[in-house]
Amino acid sequence: MILRLILGDQLNEKHTWFNEVRADVLYVMMETRSETDYVAHHIQKVAAFFAAMRHFAALLREKGHRVRYFQLDDADNTQSFTGNSMFLASQTPFQRIECQQPDEYRLDVEFKSLSEHCQVPVQIVDSEHFLTPRDAVGKLFAGKKMFLMETFYRHVRQKYGILVDGGKPEGGTWNFDGENRKKLPASIHLPNSCEPENDVSHITEMLERQGVVTIGGIDPKKLPHPVTRTQALAVLEHFTVHLLPNFGSYQDAMSTRHKFLFHSRLSFALNVKLLHPLEVVNAAVERWRTHPGQISLPQVEGFVRQIIGWREYMRGMYWHAMPGFATKNYLNHTAPLPGFYWTGDTKMNCVRHAVRQSLDDAYAHHIQRLMVTGNFALLAGVNPDELDAWYLGIYIDAIEWVEITNTRGMSQFADGGLIGTKPYVSSANYIDKMSDYCAGCAYDKKKRHGQDACPFNSLYWHFYERHRDKLARNPRIGMAYRMLDNMEPAEKQATMAQAEKYLACVDEL
Ligand code: FAD
Ligand code: SF4
Repeated sequence: MILRLILGDQLNEKHTWFNEVRADVLYVMMETRSETDYVAHHIQKVAAFFAAMRHFAALLREKGHRVRYFQLDDADNTQSFTGNSMFLASQTPFQRIECQQPDEYRLDVEFKSLSEHCQVPVQIVDSEHFLTPRDAVGKLFAGKKMFLMETFYRHVRQKYGILVDGGKPEGGTWNFDGENRKKLPASIHLPNSCEPENDVSHITEMLERQGVVTIGGIDPKKLPHPVTRTQALAVLEHFTVHLLPNFGSYQDAMSTRHKFLFHSRLSFALNVKLLHPLEVVNAAVERWRTHPGQISLPQVEGFVRQIIGWREYMRGMYWHAMPGFATKNYLNHTAPLPGFYWTGDTKMNCVRHAVRQSLDDAYAHHIQRLMVTGNFALLAGVNPDELDAWYLGIYIDAIEWVEITNTRGMSQFADGGLIGTKPYVSSANYIDKMSDYCAGCAYDKKKRHGQDACPFNSLYWHFYERHRDKLARNPRIGMAYRMLDNMEPAEKQATMAQAEKYLACVDEL
């Protein structure tokens, strides 16, 4: 008998494991406290994971596979992968345990020690999900100081021939990033969302009975995230038909009028492997090819770049830089995470919107995460450990390999520039350019100091001033230092004093 372990983010029914039904294979899936408790997760995230896992187990059984599923409240659940595997191995003499390569470092370590604990050999096979192997980034940039995403992205596009014609990029350029930065026009038609309505009340009731601590809100009768492949394919279809035509143009826009804009909301389905990245990219490219009058190349290229560029690159960076990456704190930031990250109770309209939406929907789009909550935390000098725990808990798609690289690397510059070549900080100027937040804010976007001055403005200059020794030589931020150095002494002094006043009472902002 062979025991095959399936993790909650390995719900890939197309995996070659399932090509044949074998009487000598027992598939094992488990809901465990080791997973629910390593940070406080959003209630929608836990419910979506467990619902998707339960559907997957039912699907395997329907197809004739043998499945042992541990519910969180099962009496014989030891609440860890190792404990449950040991329990099963003590009952049945397994020939070996087989696992798919996990995506998280901590599980990789745990799986490698399973053999010792269970006294049977363990074989780890490919998860057959990603387009590139774990070591792809490390190998491509071997001996190099810079790990540029753009270089990696072009490499993957060439390798898979995506939007490539005769080795050259379609449209004559690899990247239309410059066309991805439009503010949302007032006149634009905002499409409806495609939201499944999953009844997960049996799961939320169980979580409550078991005393699992979660954050955020939920309507247990209408969980709006896809938990089956059929639902995920419907979200993908909705995206390519209704959202892709405007995806690239308004990718960076933020608005109080619409939470999701033209974003796909496919990250959960992708990260739990209900969908394969190549099928998602192919669906978008196919829609563009068959509807050239409706969808322009920059829209589809912008989307392809997120999936085969950023997503694959982040995974490669994770395996290149772990485990040391998890404790990086290049700027030595130590401030506690402000309380309003857990409530949204702040006068800063942009932060209030991003946090409340995250608590309500377990979702905020990339620019809200990077240029609002991430930006503020970086300006306020928040300890990356606390921030990581927040990002890892609050989002529906948060799994360490893609959360930590985005948070510590891209957003917090805690890796000293391995992932991002400069810190993503901005004053109110950028937020106002890309959103309608400032118009309804208690703070004045134009003021650096004085009554109601927008906190982002003084904190932005204070950030550069206090990290001069580490950042001033970075050629990508020379301009900011030139502006700081040309500031009138009285103006600079008032700006720094304002920032320090704000830093002393961050929770009250
Ligand atoms: P869309 O905007 O529609 O993009 C399409 C897809 O591209 C996404 O579904 C995602 O799979 C991929 N993608 C886009 N940007 C990135 C990126 N920077 N890194 C990796 N994949 C990307 N993404 C996660 O999946 N899990 C996380 O825990 C996570 N944490 C983040 C934390 C911070 C601080 C930041 C700045 C970004 C984080 N991201 C994370 C990346 C990105 O914000 C989300 O993937 C995206 O917002 C998901 O929404 P969507 O599916 O509507 O994406
Ligand atoms: Fe955010 Fe400042 Fe704009 Fe208010 S004024 S929404 S705090 S950037």
